Amino acid sequence: MNRFNSFVRKLNFKKVIIVYLIVSVLAGILSVGFLAYTFRDKLTFAYAYHQISEKVSHNKYGIENLKTELSNLSNKSSDMVDILILDSKNKIMFSAKNSDLSKRGTIELLPNVDGGNRFLMDKENPDAYFKLIKGDKHTLSMTMLGVENKVEQDYKDRYFYEKSFDAKKVYLLSYIMDKSNGYKTYFISDVHPVAGGVLYIKAVAALATLLFMLYWVLLALWVYAQALKSRQNAAVWGLITLFTNLAGLFVFLIYKQGHQACYKCGALQNRSNIYCTFCGTKIGFVCKKCNMPVSENDSYCKNCGNALCSEQEGKQK
Ligand SMILES: [Zn+2]
Ligand SMILES: [Zn+2]
Repeated sequence: MNRFNSFVRKLNFKKVIIVYLIVSVLAGILSVGFLAYTFRDKLTFAYAYHQISEKVSHNKYGIENLKTELSNLSNKSSDMVDILILDSKNKIMFSAKNSDLSKRGTIELLPNVDGGNRFLMDKENPDAYFKLIKGDKHTLSMTMLGVENKVEQDYKDRYFYEKSFDAKKVYLLSYIMDKSNGYKTYFISDVHPVAGGVLYIKAVAALATLLFMLYWVLLALWVYAQALKSRQNAAVWGLITLFTNLAGLFVFLIYKQGHQACYKCGALQNRSNIYCTFCGTKIGFVCKKCNMPVSENDSYCKNCGNALCSEQEGKQK
């Protein structure tokens, strides 16, 4: 314990905190940069998707313009199976990638036969299932991890009893409807995980956890050091802060506020103490007339009413 105490006493908290902050900020910037780089394809796609869907739903494109934009968008992500424009009778007017899905010329989506409409089925193509997701969720799912497994799992949970179950392909589908002419734009994707993506996210999360734990322990250590300096029960204060973090810190600060510190040895003393109980240094003031303890800020003695206006009236240490 003594060795620990002298270690804590020697700790330069200012330096430790500065180093900690620099390391944290650098780690944060590097992590964000690294993740953004790893997921750059998905992020740029998500951004482009958002932009186009805004414009389509606000009718800002002519149809030819839209086709060009959609072709560009579909090339931005390998997850994109196809982007289709359907007229009000579900006839495919445009396919950005000429995928197999577009070959038959129409797509008519129906809720799945068992009545659950969480998955949609193409009437003419029983091998493809579509999971309908909202536009903003689509952008999210393109960037988020694990979604490809979740969609697959969702599907398996629902249709495990079907014979041809594994032969079916599940796609994500979101759509934008142009209300002026009834045209629908279908975004069909098959999300693939970024290689190593999960591992990188876990590594960054581990680093963040480590830094947070370090902060937690440092705070407890700081309160421990302060309590040691104030000749309080450092172990108790340290443990309180270790278990309650900021709450412990605030309680300690409030406790400290209610006391005065001996200017010589640092011990926390009752505000009414005239002498430090640890080192005997005179730390309080007394009225020169009646010898009662008075506060440094009082102008008159609360006991005898004597004016304590200046040094010679007893406001000396
Ligand atoms: Zn003292
Ligand atoms: Zn007095």
